[in-house]
Amino acid sequence: MRNLFDVKFNDLEDYFTSIGEKKFKASQVFEWLYKHHEYNIDNFSNLKKEIREKLKNDFSTSMIKIKKYEEGKDVRKYLFLLEDGNYIEAVLMHHDYGYSLCVSSQVGCNMGCRFCESGRLKKVRNLDVHEMVEQILIIEDDMHLRIDRVVIMGIGEPFDNYDNIVDFIKIINDAKGIGLGSRHITVSTCGLVPKILEFADLSLQVNLALSLHAPNDEIRNQIMPINKVYNISKVMEALRVYLSKTNRRVTIEYVMIKGINDSIECARELSNLLKGMNVYVNLIPYNETNNLQFKKSDRINEFKDTLLKLGINTTVRREFGGSISGACGQLRSKEV
Ligand code: SAH
Repeated sequence: MRNLFDVKFNDLEDYFTSIGEKKFKASQVFEWLYKHHEYNIDNFSNLKKEIREKLKNDFSTSMIKIKKYEEGKDVRKYLFLLEDGNYIEAVLMHHDYGYSLCVSSQVGCNMGCRFCESGRLKKVRNLDVHEMVEQILIIEDDMHLRIDRVVIMGIGEPFDNYDNIVDFIKIINDAKGIGLGSRHITVSTCGLVPKILEFADLSLQVNLALSLHAPNDEIRNQIMPINKVYNISKVMEALRVYLSKTNRRVTIEYVMIKGINDSIECARELSNLLKGMNVYVNLIPYNETNNLQFKKSDRINEFKDTLLKLGINTTVRREFGGSISGACGQLRSKEV
């Protein structure tokens, strides 16, 4: 049976047409789900009983479940149990502008980035659309708040689950759905070139972040195996196409790992690579994990100042959750 949180607005309209009902019933259902957070079809009181019964026959509204959470200053990290017994995580962060949520896109990840806890555990499967939508709804309900921003930066490589990610974005972006503005949604990829190009053609106007993490192939090959498939020049070429088609500024993520990619020479090389492009660099302080030997760089400010002097817009990502297994995938990897 299809899960109701998998269904885009237009598809629900088509469903109602197909059962001989008026299209606008789709608006009523979306209002219950996404405005009132009412998930029990029996309580959709403005729909006739007969339609509710039909809906219940055709769709499930079963949801993923909170298994546990850990809390730190301005951060709450959730471990979710999926229906098939798998686990994923989502992280809620409190910023001065409001709340942002980091959602997972897959159970595990096949990209194998050496420094990443999620990548230590191989991909079990893609997340369904509803499992991503529900991360948002359940946390909003749990905390009695509205999430302002969603970043698809949890466990998984979103572009390795491309079709579901696109549907997920459409549902949460839809004013009739969760209604998050496209500029409040960010997808982060390790650089799957064909998907970056496909995404450029969708004109979704959401933010794209690219996990570059190294200024040359020698270093990137060491820490990101995907670089052997799509090396830096291929990724930069795709990025140029993306920038020219979308006119949207792209974030370059650069995780600062001690002794690996944090030399001043690396900063210079990075600035040469990015010069003149509509991008900004977000330096991520490496979040150390017990299972991997990498350390956080102690040169983050020096690196940032070098980039700024060379004319590259640069920010340092605020650290959340160092005290609570904050590194991507740590909560799950303690469980499996
Ligand atoms: N697969 C996507 C999303 C992954 S997580 C991607 O590669 O972009 C989001 C970001 O966190 C990525 O830039 C990832 O490389 C980075 N990351 C992974 N482990 C980390 C750690 N321990 N500390 C800091 N950043 C990390």
